[in-house]
Amino acid sequence: MYRSHNCGELRAADINKEVTLAGWVQKSRDKGFMIWVDLRDRYGITQLIFDEARTDETIMQQARSLGREFVIQIKGTVIERESKNMNIPTGEIEVLVNELTILNGAQLPPFTIEDETDGGEDLRMKYRYLDIRRNPVKNGLLFRHKVTQEVRNYLANLDFCEVETPYLIKSTPEGARDFVVPSRMNPGQFYALPQSPQTFKQLLMVGGLDRYFQIVKCFRDEDLRADRQPEFTQIDCEMSFIEQEDILNVFEGLTHHLLKTIHGIDIAQFPRMTFDEAMRKYGNDKPDIRFGMEFGELNAITQHKEFAVFNNAELVVGIAVPEAASYTRKQIDALIEWVKRPQIGALGMVYCKCELDGTFKSSVDKFYDQTDLAKWAEVTGAKAGDLILVLSGPANKTRTQLSALRMELANRLGLRKSKEFAPLWVMDFPLLEWDEETERYHAMHHPFTSPKKEDMHLLDTDPGKVRANAYDLVLNGNEIGGGSIRIHDKETQALMFKHLGFTAAEAQEQFGFLMNAFQYGAPPHGGLAFGLDRLVAILGGQETIRDFIAFPKNNAGRDVMIDAPAAIDNAQLDELNLALNLKQ
Ligand code: ASP
Repeated sequence: MYRSHNCGELRAADINKEVTLAGWVQKSRDKGFMIWVDLRDRYGITQLIFDEARTDETIMQQARSLGREFVIQIKGTVIERESKNMNIPTGEIEVLVNELTILNGAQLPPFTIEDETDGGEDLRMKYRYLDIRRNPVKNGLLFRHKVTQEVRNYLANLDFCEVETPYLIKSTPEGARDFVVPSRMNPGQFYALPQSPQTFKQLLMVGGLDRYFQIVKCFRDEDLRADRQPEFTQIDCEMSFIEQEDILNVFEGLTHHLLKTIHGIDIAQFPRMTFDEAMRKYGNDKPDIRFGMEFGELNAITQHKEFAVFNNAELVVGIAVPEAASYTRKQIDALIEWVKRPQIGALGMVYCKCELDGTFKSSVDKFYDQTDLAKWAEVTGAKAGDLILVLSGPANKTRTQLSALRMELANRLGLRKSKEFAPLWVMDFPLLEWDEETERYHAMHHPFTSPKKEDMHLLDTDPGKVRANAYDLVLNGNEIGGGSIRIHDKETQALMFKHLGFTAAEAQEQFGFLMNAFQYGAPPHGGLAFGLDRLVAILGGQETIRDFIAFPKNNAGRDVMIDAPAAIDNAQLDELNLALNLKQ
């Protein structure tokens, strides 16, 4: 038996017990006649004591040889600690050691294995197994486990059946590039790793499984933005014989269950907003509604004066920054510079201070009088003491810019509180999205999403206006899940591919299997997928997902621990029929 207890278990009630413990040496303090060692394992830390008066000399010597991170096993007696540490659960006791076995030595770790470490990100990734010994990372993984357990329980209770779908498949367009795997047995041919199990889960519905879920890896070869991983995990779900409302209810229920079991938070009903409303009010399809600063559209009350910048703009829109009327000229100039950075791209910004005495002071006083500015305050919801910031220009672009400013200010003002949770359904997304680069429409969600019946007639005349039966669940300004009611008949699916620029032959060649299946009695179905990594991070009160992934990749998509990706040797290339291709 390696141990009778773990390192987080012993309490005052265990005093006088003979115990065996095993773990890592967190640190030791040698006072000459006494040595204390903090012994650590996943469950906690227990203090060991070696005392010249009570411990064998050979064991004292052995104890002196212990270095950080040595793996040891001890036997000893639980005794009361003289100076108790009430900050840790085992702080009332220590173990007086009478037998010590060094199970494995350890080199000095490259960074300190404590909650606050001196190790930089790269170093910690290279030695991820040491990083995992630290509480923040270890607790992140345990927390993730707890969330996935709760998800499994919840869905299994509702008759969802967990099914594994294959990883070696054919490309499914979800808007990103595929990772591909060469097939040795089929020279010149490739599998694609799934961007999601979308078509498979739909085929499971055709198969009559009725309710499916899977906690599944998905792969997308995208340019890596901060905090995005090339492989990530989804809670992927699909249901048959349902309407949009049923899906919203089930997954609102799941999210409610998670917030309740994990944080004790009870949010009766999640608010809902259409995509259009989200864009108009927040300039964003995943608004953070933990704070206000809603957009106020000012066209009607600004375009009647001589101010050409506003008169020529498609949209004039502002937000009220709470209690910011006291900003100095310098602070406001810095904000103007911030929106003019190329990443944001505004040409300028107009401001209006709502002074505490009820007057207004704006950067465009030349054009607008106090009555005009009072209207600005009314439309943006600004109170005395607030600062109104106004951008103008093409509608979509200006909304995006103001949205970025809104989020930046909320961060600076501490309005995005990590312990507060504000879920929101965003619905009625557009079916199609115009892509400037390729000059054609793309499916905004994916090509299997059904258009709203009442908008179908616009498909030919005004495709950009067609709304989809698609929805996203947003939590604290992050999209944590999205899905749709699917097309389930061959004709509509073929029509959809046509609008996406596929020829009938291309559609047949890529998605024939799905359209064929639809001819054999496909039930009405729909579903959604939650991004598990982000969901866990947000529930854990963090915005970075890496601490909740055991072995994450860095910003360049590399695993710096195992050093992947890496070259493979010629023989392997040859076997995969790739050597020739490379030489050509
Ligand atoms: N496959 C979709 C995605 O990965 C989710 C869904 O439509 O169920 O975003």
